[in-house]
Amino acid sequence: MHTQHFIGTRGGQDTALTFKDAVLNPNAAFGGLYTAKKLPKFDEDSIKEFSELNYEELAQEIFRHLSLGVRKEALEEALKLYHHFDDPTTPAPLYSVHPYLHIQKLYCGPTRAFKDMALQPFGSLFSSFLKESKKETDYLILVATSGDTGPATLQSFANKPHIKVVCIYPEGGTSDVQRLQMTTMNADNIEVFGIKGDFDEAQTLLKSLLKDPKFNAILKSKNIALSAANSVNFGRIAFQILYHAYSSLQIFKINHQKIHIIVPSGNFGNALGAFYAKFMGFPIERIWIASNANDVLAEFINTGIYDIAEKSLQKTYSPAMDILKSSNIERVLFTLFEAQRTREFMESLEQIGKYSLTKEELAWIQIYFSATSCDDNYCLQTIKTYAKKGYIIDPHTACGFKAFEEIKAKFPNTPCVLCSTAEWTKFAPTLAKALDLGDLSDKEALEKISQTYNITIPKEIFTLFNQPEIHNQVFDAQTLSQKILEWL
Ligand SMILES: *Cc1c(COP(=O)(O)O)cnc(C)c1O
Repeated sequence: MHTQHFIGTRGGQDTALTFKDAVLNPNAAFGGLYTAKKLPKFDEDSIKEFSELNYEELAQEIFRHLSLGVRKEALEEALKLYHHFDDPTTPAPLYSVHPYLHIQKLYCGPTRAFKDMALQPFGSLFSSFLKESKKETDYLILVATSGDTGPATLQSFANKPHIKVVCIYPEGGTSDVQRLQMTTMNADNIEVFGIKGDFDEAQTLLKSLLKDPKFNAILKSKNIALSAANSVNFGRIAFQILYHAYSSLQIFKINHQKIHIIVPSGNFGNALGAFYAKFMGFPIERIWIASNANDVLAEFINTGIYDIAEKSLQKTYSPAMDILKSSNIERVLFTLFEAQRTREFMESLEQIGKYSLTKEELAWIQIYFSATSCDDNYCLQTIKTYAKKGYIIDPHTACGFKAFEEIKAKFPNTPCVLCSTAEWTKFAPTLAKALDLGDLSDKEALEKISQTYNITIPKEIFTLFNQPEIHNQVFDAQTLSQKILEWL
C-alpha cells in the first residue's frame, strides 16, 4: 500500500506531504486545510469482517487502510489512553432511550466532553512523531477555547517533553467548571491566560499571532516551531472517524440496517468524521446536522446557500455550537467537488460572506447530510422531558433530539445514533434552569441535580472546586505575544 498523500483543500502544489507533516504543521496553502487525497472504499465483505473487531482492532484496520504511515506500536500506545475512560474496552458506548434511538456517549474521558475522543490519543501520537523525527525542535501549541477544547488539549499534552501549550480563553466566557479545568492544571509545560474580550476576539488574536512574522522569527531563533491542535488538524479528524464506524457496525451486526447519525455540530469536525466513515462504506444511511439558533449549517444543507453576510452570532445554551464560520465543511466540499471549486466557494465566503451550490451539487451534499435546528426553548424543554424519563442529558445533546423527531416521522423504524457530546456536569447551571431548580452557580447546580436525580458527579469534576487556581492571569489582548515570550 502506498502512503497517503495530504494536499490542501484549495489547491496548490501536491508536495506529497505525509500525515505526520499535516499533523505537525496543519496550515495549508491559500488558507486551505490539509486533507487525505484518496480515501479507501470498503466492500460488504470487509464491513462484515470489521464488525467482529473490538474498538482498538477496528482503529488499527482503519488507520492501516487510510495508509497514514503510523507505526502499529505508536497507534497502540495512543489508543491505550482510552483504557482510562469509564469503560476501558469501549471508549464510546451506546445506550438506548427508545427502540430506534441509541445515544452514543462521547464524553467518557477525563474532561467529560467529546473533545477527549480525539485529543487523548492525538497528544500521544504527536509525541511519537516528535520522537521519530530526531530533530531537536520544540513545539509550541496555541489554543483558543470557548470551553471544551482548552481543557482537553491541556490534559492531552501536560508533561509531554518538547511540547509547550499556551491556552487562551475569554474571561467570563466559559462555565466555572470549564475555567477550573484549565486554571487548576498543574504542569510545567502549560500556561493558561484569560483574555479580556469574547471568544471570537481570542480566536482572531491567535490567528494573527500564528501569522505574525516578528513573533515567528523570535520563536525560530529559540528553535521553537508553532503548531495547532484545533479541529482543522487532520490528526484529530482521523480519530473522529473511528467511533462513527464503530457505532454503525454495532447496530448493523444486530439488524442489518444502516443508521442515521445525529451530530450536534459547531466547527463540523465530528460530522466530518461521520462523513468519511460513510464515504468509505460503513453502514450509515445519512448524517443529520443538529444546530441551535445559529443555524447557518442547517440552512446550508437544506438550501445549498452558505450565507453569513447579514448574520451575527447569538449566544445560546449550547455554546459549543455557537458558530458562523464552520471550518471543516471545507473538507466535505473538497472531497465531493475538488480543490478548484472549493477555492471558489471559500474566496466567495471571504469576499462577500456567502457562497451557493448548484442544484446538482446540493443533491450530492444531500446524499450524505440532512439538517435541523432548534431554539433554546426546545433545548430546555427536551432536557426536562428526558429527565422525567430518567435520562440526564446536556444542552448540546438535547438539540439533537429535534433531528430524531424528524427522522421518526420521515423514515419510521430506522435506527438512529445520537452523538452525546458532553456530560451534563459541564453545563450544570443550564440543567438547573431547565429542571426548575433555580438560578444556580456551577457548584450549587451540580450538588442540587446530583441530589435530586440521584446521580453521581465524576471525581474529575467535583474535585475541581477544592484545587487552587494556579493560572490566574487575565490581561488585554494586545499584550499576549509579549506574555507568551516571557513565559517561554
Ligand atoms: C466541540 C463541541 C461540539 C461541536 O463539535 P464540532 O466538531 O466542532 O462540530 C458540540 N458539542 C460539544 C459539547 C462540544 O464540546
